Amino acid sequence: MNESPVHAGVHMANGFDPTSGVELDKAAADLLARRDRVLGPSYRLFYREPVAIDSASGVWLYGADGRTYLDAYNNVPAIGHSHPAVTAAVTAQLSKLNTHTRYLTEPIIAYSERLLAKFPAELDRITFACTGSEAIDLAVRTARAATGKQGIIITEHAYHGTTVAAAGLSPSLGPNNPLGEHVVTIPSIDAARTPADEVGPRLLASVESAIRALNASGSGVAAIILDSIFSSDGVQTDPAGFLAPVVQAVHNADGLYIADEVQPGFGRTGAWWGFERHGIVPDLVVLGKPMGNGIPISAVVGTSAAQEKFGSLVRYFNTFGGNPVSIAAATAVLDVIEQDDLVAHAATVGAQLLTGLREIGASHEQVIDVRGAGLFLAMEFGADDATRTPDADLAARVVNGMREEGILISASGPAANALKIRPPLPFSSEHADQLLETLDRVIGRVA
Ligand code: PMP
Repeated sequence: MNESPVHAGVHMANGFDPTSGVELDKAAADLLARRDRVLGPSYRLFYREPVAIDSASGVWLYGADGRTYLDAYNNVPAIGHSHPAVTAAVTAQLSKLNTHTRYLTEPIIAYSERLLAKFPAELDRITFACTGSEAIDLAVRTARAATGKQGIIITEHAYHGTTVAAAGLSPSLGPNNPLGEHVVTIPSIDAARTPADEVGPRLLASVESAIRALNASGSGVAAIILDSIFSSDGVQTDPAGFLAPVVQAVHNADGLYIADEVQPGFGRTGAWWGFERHGIVPDLVVLGKPMGNGIPISAVVGTSAAQEKFGSLVRYFNTFGGNPVSIAAATAVLDVIEQDDLVAHAATVGAQLLTGLREIGASHEQVIDVRGAGLFLAMEFGADDATRTPDADLAARVVNGMREEGILISASGPAANALKIRPPLPFSSEHADQLLETLDRVIGRVA
């Protein structure tokens, strides 16, 4: 295959390389060719050999080629793929009413009351949108209105979405993606190379310097936006609590703290919200991905104080945001998380995985760090040298080796050398055993 100019300079861990010459089975090759003829050129596929999926259920994905894959990667189907409770709720609502937020309807109120009860009491208002990006966008507009300032602080390898504003807050999209005006980055947390007691102080020093830069430039500080689990920064979880002084510094500068909970929210970390591990209360929280188990719904939850100004200045109407069908899906998700006790389950099975990953790490010298919170875990590969040189190539071999063995994970981080393990929440202890046993074997085989 010829060099593909559209892939030059594009950063994506575990991306399919159409120039690699990998042999695909005929059905997959034909589908890929048809896809290339019609889909926009910005799309990327996962894996050295892309996976063609036909259907899914629970934690299982069923390949078009008849193979079964254990899903240890997808967080959108948080309560499991094709969950019957979501299907039933959406089907019933779709047959009854699907309008928008400009009529009085009861279910959106009941859902909002239930969801807000999961947050600290100060976070008492919710505004609905469809995607995480839209909610990030709205949170930024809200923070700028509330503070009268423009500056936004993000991490160096952050991902916050696809709109002009959200992509402008997403340096992990690579050097060809321009950052927004008034946006400053701080260095990513680097747990594998930072003593635990220095993680917090280093981050605080970076944030203080970003605050000084924004004030000096005249932008001032509107907000810091942090993914509470630093997913694209390689999954940075420890030591829990490192965000507290950072949030204090931003508040001292009259800025707001926006928690991006698109990845860690809804129980993934073994708590309802990722920020809880840090003992902090955000001004605004962005929700998305798992909220509707695949039905598009997202939201900004926040304090009245943070939201009042924007609400008084500008009206917000998101045509599909919070429509009755998406609310039905989101309500079913809450029901199932509560009924199946999935938050505690994520904590228990997550702890089992963390212990198992650490044991595996201890027996393979290429593993330089293992970390995680609940069902969001990372294993980082590197060399046994002074700088622990990242080994993205090994991470890719492990990800693809796991795929060959029928288990789907991916990679993440600025150097793409960290495994990203983030299964649907019903992932059981037996699934964890299967993953650990396979991972140990695959590392041994490909390292
Ligand atoms: N924030 C984070 C942390 C994300 O991971 C994503 C999506 N990957 C977004 C925001 C944007 O969400 P969406 O793709 O739904 O717009």
